[in-house]
Amino acid sequence: MRKTRCILIAAVLLAAASAGAASQTARDGRYPATTGTIPPPAAGTQPAAQEWSGESGASGHPLMTAEAIRAAAANFRGCIERIWPLAARRGITRNLFQAYTAQLSPDLRIMDLLDNQPEFTKSFWDYLDLLVNDARIASGRALLEKYRATFDAVEKAYGVDRYTVTAIWGVETNYGAIGGERPVIRSTATLACVGRRQNYFREEFLSALEILQRGDVRPDRLVGSWAGAFGPTQFMPTAFKRYAVDFDHDGRRDVVDSVPDFIASTANNLRKDGWVAGQTWGYEVVVPATLDFRLADHAHMLPIRDWERHGITRPGGKPFPRPDDHAFLLVPAGVQGPGFLMLANFRAIMKYNPAEAYALAIGHLADRLRGAPPFVQHWPRYEHVLSRNERLELQQLLARHGYDVGEPDGQLGAKTRAAIRDFQTKIGQVPDGFASAVVLERLRK
Ligand code: CA
Repeated sequence: MRKTRCILIAAVLLAAASAGAASQTARDGRYPATTGTIPPPAAGTQPAAQEWSGESGASGHPLMTAEAIRAAAANFRGCIERIWPLAARRGITRNLFQAYTAQLSPDLRIMDLLDNQPEFTKSFWDYLDLLVNDARIASGRALLEKYRATFDAVEKAYGVDRYTVTAIWGVETNYGAIGGERPVIRSTATLACVGRRQNYFREEFLSALEILQRGDVRPDRLVGSWAGAFGPTQFMPTAFKRYAVDFDHDGRRDVVDSVPDFIASTANNLRKDGWVAGQTWGYEVVVPATLDFRLADHAHMLPIRDWERHGITRPGGKPFPRPDDHAFLLVPAGVQGPGFLMLANFRAIMKYNPAEAYALAIGHLADRLRGAPPFVQHWPRYEHVLSRNERLELQQLLARHGYDVGEPDGQLGAKTRAAIRDFQTKIGQVPDGFASAVVLERLRK
């Protein structure tokens, strides 16, 4: 699961204001050494800028009630100590473990953020407006020019398009400007011991300790989003383990302060997740209202020429350059908005962060950086976008109608969309799977 990368985006969308220092490169060896002096803990004792609301999480998960959060926080020390044997098995020294955990307190503000992931609470169009704009395009183009030689070398080594890597850099942290200031150790320790995703985050916490043990990233620079993603392209600790490379050959995989390292590591990540060299992510398409929208499903890959038989075209009638490529159809705003045919590279981007809006923002920003124009078709901006509570209610009502929507969490994924389509068919609407206010209204009856 890589969903946690959107913490940064959360910071952008929720706080709308964020301070962050641009990377300051420092190269004086490995920190901390596996043996020897251990620097003072980077994590821990400073209170978060904003305190926990004290309220139960919106997910309704039993581990996210205010009582459960308080109880887990009270047991935080014991929880951390129970993790120690697992750390020891990975070669973490007791000294290092002590240095980074002895003063640690949970950052409970993270519990508010855990249940409030904005890819799923903003409309697609608001999200795209925010992330793909003239300022971000101009900054990205300047960086492409500045690091041209690095991008040349990385493209050669990994076969991953420079514009996509730059778009990830731009969308994740506005090119390093807003990477987040939370110590990764504290964030992942908190999430490993409190809240609804402890198993997942125990692994992240252990992996963060391993990064410190090896000295790849300076301890005071191992800061980032509330979920523990760090560096300009927001690696989670486990993703760091899988994908980080030492492209500048200084002995450290420094995805925070070395531009060659994080550009190459991000490219390596995409390549290992299935990036196909020389191809794009997908195409904006025009979808006929008569389409069977059940075809718009991630699992439904068809050759583009088959989509053409279903009446799918590119705006302006431009031909598809590679009609034999397989693609799935995404129609994020239903029949009233643009459609997209998504190729293998879109899936690779979604592995970076499994939110459709995120992946589309990456693909679109990459195209804009390359010089392509904005999308042609309009979004249904007049549509009321369901609030988080309304989305939760929608899922709960669908479940009550007998649909499997998974654990209702206010995040509208493939299962919810399928349920909406089926319900729309029953009430005589175009079954496009769009969670409109009208659908919610009918479910309430
Ligand atoms: Ca390096």
